[in-house]
Amino acid sequence: MTQPRIALLGMGLIGSSLGHALKHYGLAGHVSGYARSQETRARALEIGFVDSVHDTAIDACADADIVFFNTPLSAVADLAKEIIPSLKDNAILTDVGSVKKGIIEEVTPLLEGRVHLVPGHPIAGTERSGPDSGFASLFDGRWCILTPSGETSLMAVEQIAKLWRGMGSEVEFMDAEHHDLVLAITSHLPHLIAYNIVGTAAQLESDTRSDVIKYSASGFRDFTRIASSDPIMWRDIFLQNKEAVLEMLGRFSEDLTALQRAIRHGDGAHLEKVFTTTRAIRKSVVEAGQDTDEANFGRDKKPE
Ligand code: NAP
Repeated sequence: MTQPRIALLGMGLIGSSLGHALKHYGLAGHVSGYARSQETRARALEIGFVDSVHDTAIDACADADIVFFNTPLSAVADLAKEIIPSLKDNAILTDVGSVKKGIIEEVTPLLEGRVHLVPGHPIAGTERSGPDSGFASLFDGRWCILTPSGETSLMAVEQIAKLWRGMGSEVEFMDAEHHDLVLAITSHLPHLIAYNIVGTAAQLESDTRSDVIKYSASGFRDFTRIASSDPIMWRDIFLQNKEAVLEMLGRFSEDLTALQRAIRHGDGAHLEKVFTTTRAIRKSVVEAGQDTDEANFGRDKKPE
């Protein structure tokens, strides 16, 4: 069977890793690419994770069997509007976005009844961005969550699942709303906390000329890595996953208040109980082989 022609819209960390992986595992007949800037397009061709680059998304998708959206979430709907009218019948649109409900609501009405949408999210990444940051093994041994609706063509779903499995991922199917709730606590809230703690420390540094940055020990240093993640990507995630993040933030604030009270009243038993439970959770995360997450906590993987 001939391999599909695949178009990559967005060639940053995830787009370039897809290009490298598709080529490394021989999963595509042709990989075409489009990104906003001429600089990224030229660099993608130079690195060689695509076979061709194009000045417009429409040109990149001409003859494509599968189109991957790898841009920040806020760019997907406009790109979909632009390319769908000229896609061939039965082309499959898929994405890698960290929030699923918004994309489904925005793109589904545009499908013209002849193009398929299989939303996806690889639980893999680093805090780096741009076309030089990708590597072929990024998805290897990581989960990829697909959130197709009940009406999505099974053939389209199976084709996308097969691609992810071919890149070494384990594929899981989930309802989009459930995905967004789970990721709110496992990924989005930790990033919000990192952005906030580093922001507070930076403010303190400038207010009091303190040595926060100079003496940042491992805890703070880890937060600074997470908080260096792409601002546009994370702005979009919080705007699109507003409800789930606010729900989790509410629970988090209640638990934080309980810790605050325990410290104020010298309630060591409460502190010890919470810290013992969290230690056990860390153990089960490591045992499940998930000691790294989408933001690459504790991971120091070098590009291939
Ligand atoms: P990135 O490295 O910043 O790359 C974004 C790419 O999108 C760049 O090539 C950029 O082009 C292009 N782009 C931006 N706006 C565009 C537009 N309007 N039209 C066309 N291209 C546009 O981002 P990333 O980390 O790969 O993230 C991409 C997506 O993956 C996000 O939706 C994110 O939610 C998801 N994701 C990220 C991670 C992670 O850890 N980073 C993990 C899982 C999923 P230029 O270079 O020309 O600006």
